[in-house]
Amino acid sequence: MVRADRVCKNFGAVKVLKGISLEVGRGQVACMIGPSGSGKSTFLRCINHLERVDAGRLYVDGELIGYAERGSKLHELQPKVAARQRRDIGMVFQHFNLFPHRTALENIIEAPVLVKKVKRTEAIERGRELLARVGLSDKADAYPAQLSGGQQQRVAIARALAMDPKLMLFDEPTSALDPELVGEVLAVMRDLAAGGMTMVVVTHEMGFAREVADELVFMDDGVVVEAGNPREVLSNPQHERTRGFLSRLL
Ligand code: ATP
Ligand code: MG
Repeated sequence: MVRADRVCKNFGAVKVLKGISLEVGRGQVACMIGPSGSGKSTFLRCINHLERVDAGRLYVDGELIGYAERGSKLHELQPKVAARQRRDIGMVFQHFNLFPHRTALENIIEAPVLVKKVKRTEAIERGRELLARVGLSDKADAYPAQLSGGQQQRVAIARALAMDPKLMLFDEPTSALDPELVGEVLAVMRDLAAGGMTMVVVTHEMGFAREVADELVFMDDGVVVEAGNPREVLSNPQHERTRGFLSRLL
């Protein structure tokens, strides 16, 4: 579902991604870990073309992201196609980024109604289903400020799901939460994985990575240092850098 082939990204003279190659099969979950500044967020942002890559290719569901390929030349995508690509990929951030002056349900139906032109009544029905799915049936009319961080994050997940994405990207979805709220968000993500969603999750929740991920990817300094079965990587890291990072984390 996701294929990264030697993806490079620079910010000015700073090389942030130095040839990331990675595959995530349909229905699989990849967790990414690594030190601050190693390029994890940048890589996620490249996957939905919030950042343009400088070299290498990214494919989602077999389609080259962000560019049209003619022969061996890359051309800019038509804005319409770029927008469609982005719509097919859901993203959940550390800070929930809900619209503060909209209720939970209004947050969820906004994009389906405005972008996908779904009928409002249908969007509302689906929105209520999604709220139920994330355990918030009773919070449809609550404003973000009236919700806990964990509840806001679950609304943010429901909002992303409302666009029927092929792929969900999570960038440290629980790291801004009080510890007692982390579990409820991870439980929603675990359900999503069990339901067959393809997911790339930047997280330092090692319990989640061990139990849910098919692949654990350790990034450092813009490269994938090591990737593999999470239990194996965690119990028997092959690289000194992975060992050092894990020993600081655990
Ligand atoms: P963290 O764990 O702190 O979230 P990260 O692994 O997600 O870190 P990135 O946010 O991808 O790391 O950043 C990687 C590097 O790219 C950092 O050195 C950062 O300063 C730099 N960087 C990220 N975005 C930009 C930008 N828009 N302009 C310039 N430099 C950037
Ligand atoms: Mg980050």
